[in-house]
Amino acid sequence: MRPAPDQEGSWLLVRGRVVTPEGVLSPGWIRITGSRIDAIGPGLPPAGQDPGLDVVDLPGQWLLPGFVDIHVHGGGGTSFTEGTGDDARNAAEFHRRHGSTTLLASLVTAPLSGLEAQAALLAGLADEGVIAGLHLEGPFLSPARRGAQDARHMLAPDPAVFDRLQAAARGHLRILTLAPELPGAIRMVQAAARAGVTVAIGHTDATAEVTSAAIDAGATHATHLFNGMRPPHHREPGAAGALLDRGEVTCEVIADGVHLHDMTIRLAARAAGPGRLVLVTDATAAAGMPDGSYRLGSVRVTVAGGVARLADEPGQAWVPGRAGDIGDAVQAGAIVGSTATMAGVVRHALAAGLPVTEVAAAASTTPARVLGIDDRTGALRPGLAADLVVCDAEFRLRAVMRQGRWLAGPPGSEVFSPPGAPSR
Ligand SMILES: [Zn+2]
Repeated sequence: MRPAPDQEGSWLLVRGRVVTPEGVLSPGWIRITGSRIDAIGPGLPPAGQDPGLDVVDLPGQWLLPGFVDIHVHGGGGTSFTEGTGDDARNAAEFHRRHGSTTLLASLVTAPLSGLEAQAALLAGLADEGVIAGLHLEGPFLSPARRGAQDARHMLAPDPAVFDRLQAAARGHLRILTLAPELPGAIRMVQAAARAGVTVAIGHTDATAEVTSAAIDAGATHATHLFNGMRPPHHREPGAAGALLDRGEVTCEVIADGVHLHDMTIRLAARAAGPGRLVLVTDATAAAGMPDGSYRLGSVRVTVAGGVARLADEPGQAWVPGRAGDIGDAVQAGAIVGSTATMAGVVRHALAAGLPVTEVAAAASTTPARVLGIDDRTGALRPGLAADLVVCDAEFRLRAVMRQGRWLAGPPGSEVFSPPGAPSR
């Protein structure tokens, strides 16, 4: 008997285009037992499979690993940066339905006591497995490249402050973004790396040289490459140049069609090479919501035409041409966060010309490795969690499976029922 869609079961997914780390099996099949992928193969599955398996026929549909979003502030009208546990749960649920089977909750610069309280609240959700941990995007950032963040609460890197936040997060802190040109940054990089936290470079006005020193000290990740950094110059390639130049650094890109030119995405992918690009949403509460006014930490964000920009005063909308734009350090009108989903950035990266295997690596495998959980999820491979997404031939999201359970389709689509042939 076919289990209910949201129950763990034993599934045989057939005739799909299966994107594995070694290439695309077209067609291919995946066998799932309980919460794990149990076997994968090319062509049609061999005869004599367990008759208790429920067969799902997916002719021509793409099967990709579930997405791993390591930079996301909220979605579906609520955020991780403020509000209650239920608000955070709602944001996580929104992104799961859009394909992110694993996600970090990203906090932004805020008063220290507020950050501690929010970190403690999110640590509880990490204990439950709702989120995979926390990303601290602040408070050790450069006011000169603050983007949407509140410079009043930015601090010079301070291991004592880090220890307080680390304690509040009860070991669930995974990524710390900092600006390496700030006083004390190098010591902070070393201390965080020693504590097992991935150090990311971001919201920085650093030169290439200063950035390289931070990489030497143990920084291994780039927070939304190009955005919130000084623009590369051919004689001063800046943080972006230094981060791309170093093979040990993984580089986030927000491939939403707003934050980066498609050519920039292609150049970054080519410069980074295999296993270094990471697709992220940087989504705010506004993801999935109509145009309007939203909060990101202590600042207000106005969304028009799906683009989120900083509003300089409560309720005041951005006026085109008045201040700020791509490349500008700060100010009203700066693009802040996004309204993207991982399904959206994946589709955009493919449309920008990246090959599907590279996109799957950037959306799932590499970010799982950044989190140190690539032995559990992030690829379609036997033994890993049955975290996967089904997309149609045009890469529109059709269904999401997390740990062997089908989740409902994204809002606006018909409620998901497993597609395909009747069970045998
Ligand atoms: Zn962010």
